[in-house]
Amino acid sequence: MTADVIVRGGTVVEAGWTGRADVVITGGTVTALAEPGTAGARTEIDASGRLVLPGGVDPHCHVGFTSGAFTSLDDYRRCTTAAVHGGTTTIVDFAIPRPGENPADVAYAQRAKATEGLCDSALHGCVVRWDDTVPEQLAALVADGVTTFKMFTTYRGESMADEDTVLRTMTSLAGLGGMVVIHCEADHIIGDAQDRCAAAGRIGARDMAASRPALAETASVAEVLAIAEAVDAPVYFVHQSTAAAVELVAAARRRGVRAYSEAVAHHLVLDDSAYAGEHPERFVCCPPLRPAADVEALGRHLFTGEITTIGSDHCCYDTGQKESRQADVRAMPNGLPGVETRMPVIFSEYVVRRGLPVTRFVELTAAAPARANGLYPRKGTLLPGADADLVVWDPAARWRVTAAGLHMATDYTPYEGMTVTGRPETVLVGGRVVIENGDLADPAPRGRHIPAAPFPSRALVSHA
Ligand SMILES: [Zn+2]
Repeated sequence: MTADVIVRGGTVVEAGWTGRADVVITGGTVTALAEPGTAGARTEIDASGRLVLPGGVDPHCHVGFTSGAFTSLDDYRRCTTAAVHGGTTTIVDFAIPRPGENPADVAYAQRAKATEGLCDSALHGCVVRWDDTVPEQLAALVADGVTTFKMFTTYRGESMADEDTVLRTMTSLAGLGGMVVIHCEADHIIGDAQDRCAAAGRIGARDMAASRPALAETASVAEVLAIAEAVDAPVYFVHQSTAAAVELVAAARRRGVRAYSEAVAHHLVLDDSAYAGEHPERFVCCPPLRPAADVEALGRHLFTGEITTIGSDHCCYDTGQKESRQADVRAMPNGLPGVETRMPVIFSEYVVRRGLPVTRFVELTAAAPARANGLYPRKGTLLPGADADLVVWDPAARWRVTAAGLHMATDYTPYEGMTVTGRPETVLVGGRVVIENGDLADPAPRGRHIPAAPFPSRALVSHA
């Protein structure tokens, strides 16, 4: 049988190895990694001089997210259009209940939107409040392919879960093959810091860093880790912003706790000097950007293997939404747009500038996020049997990041003006060319919700 597509002449990069191979695709699936020049297909894509990477998996992506008075500005179509331009071919979104809503209804409604995407997606559920119906909702959702559940230890009165809810959800999910993914910032410590800031008349966007101290993160991480260890539950910490928080998780993992650290691109590249700049509101996110020395220390853990995954924490607000409440960070929409810039910015800043091995880049941006979300080996690899989602990556292309040149549903990027080396050139989703030479070649939405497999009762990610 003649194959449909062959990606010829490139250097394939997997999480564990890299080498010359032609990628053979039939029926939307990788069917072989062939010795260069030995296989043929109806369509040939020339990848000479290029890297061939598994499509990125963004484990942390908010699509059209409502929090407080604000809703982020994209939908599945806009978010995934930006994602594929940036080399990401699977996003993991969140279904976060508003007051009065239950986790299952919100997850099923959000999952139905997957078909509007240009690429596939998966979903984190979310538990805010425990009641007697939660166990059966969790069981039904895990059986239906939603195995990871977001929880928050901050945003009191909105999405924060109390200690009972965290304990019960973690225990229930451990028995079901699910996992809590948690935003850890101890709300009482943040409340205290914000009260002090407000009393001093310093609670605007410029004061963002002081309003959410690093102590809030380490204190909350330590508590949640202790619970996870006691009940033998896996736990994934989202957007860890300090080396101290990552080191707490790494130490627990060395004791055998199934605990994982996610860092997000903006905490690895930007620092709190942005709050002293012209548009501090554009950089308001939780946890906030940290001092440059802390960013450096966090970035070192990409090399040690102590950070498991890199996400974007994409949240597409525009300058108008951000400016409307910039006098008081407590009322501001939190979050930065980033699904499109995650891979190019990390490749440039860490692989090109600091020598992070490109195999580790693939591990952090594709393979490990796929594993942590029950999507591997369908996603996050180019081994035969995987979905044919791949990126032909030009490692030498130099370009300038500008909001006008990106595709996210907002008017700014936190990386405006940055010169970046490395760019996704051609992107395939399910064996179809969706991006060709950096431009959208196929705008047809064919996204699917990818059900996550339950977790085995062993480590998801091994660290050398
Ligand atoms: Zn988030």
